[in-house]
Amino acid sequence: MTHDMRDTALTDLRTGFAGGVLTPGDASYDEARKVFNSMIDRRPAVIAQCGTERDVAEAIRFGRENGLEIAVRGGGHSVAGMALTEGGIVIDLRRMHTVVVDPGRRTVRVGGGAVMSHLDRAAEPYGLATTGGRVSTTGVGGFVLGGGSGWLDRRFGLASDNLLSVELVTADGRTVRASGQENPELFWALHGGGGNFGVATSFTLRLHPLPVVTAALLMWRPEAGPEVARTYRGFMESAPDEVGGGLIYLTAPPEEFVPADMAGELACAVLVTYAGGMQEMRDVAEPVLDMDHDAEMITELSYADLQCMLDDPPGYRNYWSAEYLASFPDPAVEAFCARAGDLLVPSPSQHVLFPQGGAVARGPGDHPIPWRRAPWVVHPFGLWEDPADDERVRRWAHDVRADVRPWSTGAVYLNFIGHEGEDRVVAGFGPDNHRRLAAVKAEYDPGNVFRLNHNIRPR
Ligand code: FAD
Repeated sequence: MTHDMRDTALTDLRTGFAGGVLTPGDASYDEARKVFNSMIDRRPAVIAQCGTERDVAEAIRFGRENGLEIAVRGGGHSVAGMALTEGGIVIDLRRMHTVVVDPGRRTVRVGGGAVMSHLDRAAEPYGLATTGGRVSTTGVGGFVLGGGSGWLDRRFGLASDNLLSVELVTADGRTVRASGQENPELFWALHGGGGNFGVATSFTLRLHPLPVVTAALLMWRPEAGPEVARTYRGFMESAPDEVGGGLIYLTAPPEEFVPADMAGELACAVLVTYAGGMQEMRDVAEPVLDMDHDAEMITELSYADLQCMLDDPPGYRNYWSAEYLASFPDPAVEAFCARAGDLLVPSPSQHVLFPQGGAVARGPGDHPIPWRRAPWVVHPFGLWEDPADDERVRRWAHDVRADVRPWSTGAVYLNFIGHEGEDRVVAGFGPDNHRRLAAVKAEYDPGNVFRLNHNIRPR
């Protein structure tokens, strides 16, 4: 296509477009193409900042007619930068972040480009909440469509377990609704299948009463790690569903509750989140709270505030991966803790062990989420600044995975990894679900227009 033809087509796209259309050279173009992972530096030909469902359909049509690769952007948190294309068109949903709470029905309708804090803050005044990601800046879109795990999942299930309906614009520009009653096979696929089937313009989710939560963050010098991990494992094996959190090696922050000689150094932390008040949490978490520790911060707060408490800073280089474990016996504890020594410190990187179980494990077995039954998740989460450290952080994440692989279920949550090859995509769904998803893909996106994701090829 010549430049003149492209200009004419762009003028047509802009006509009647409720949002904005950016091209290279526009003042806000560079800001609009930034994503969470600063390693991703791509220059789309067009960024279509959609404001309505019609905009989305028009942007898809424009991309297809002009032979442009199509990326769909929600919160921009995908580690592989799946929300950006080099030379193609980005369907940027960030303007579509309206949230409407129905307190009577305990449901919420969320725009396809909202981030967690839009949802959490809208539900907060009603004392309601639902499972969100562990930070407030993740996009609801990519999060929910991938499955959605967070501090509340042991209590209320995964975010996708709370999904009541989705409105979607498909590759041919149709608006389709999916729920238990309407297009149920598509609805099934949207429980984990990601952005493969169309652009979700809104989600309706179930809310739950949650007036208050409690968070306890305890820290130890790293030598105590293995003992802390064994105690934590025992605690979580019989903890009630209200308990979330994780065991995390990190750089101790320069906060008042942290001894000065620990700040800036490697520390082993346990975060206990509790879907309820302080006293109940103290009673329940006694085995962990009673261990001698070096730093402690305990607070009762709203769920929306908890969500912002551990927001990771944007602008860093990112590499993360994950293994989902069937068990976490002593040799796994030793291997996991030993590898914390390779963590880049100081940096915002984290060497994470998340518990699952509770409502996650009890959730619907027929969703394409084979990892839900794994009781433990090992999640090396690398964030750093200097490109000279790229190889070191990548090697650490790969070594972490290799260390715990003897206990791995083989299944993996795709939102916790970048592009790791076709086998990992199949492992994200399980072979039978993968085949079934490919058939749904063939029905809704036979030309694989939506392929900047953990891609399921149509079959
Ligand atoms: P984007 O990069 O915008 O999108 C990711 C993928 O989803 C892309 O393929 C995109 O095309 C597609 N997509 C996004 N929105 C839509 C839509 N409306 N319709 C169709 N397709 C869409 N995950 C968890 O489960 N729990 C956590 O606690 C958690 N914590 C995180 C913390 C941080 C700091 C970061 C960076 C990520 C975290 N994640 C977590 C991972 C996160 O869920 C995934 O990266 C997810 O894909 C992000 O969605 P997004 O919309 O922000 O990202």
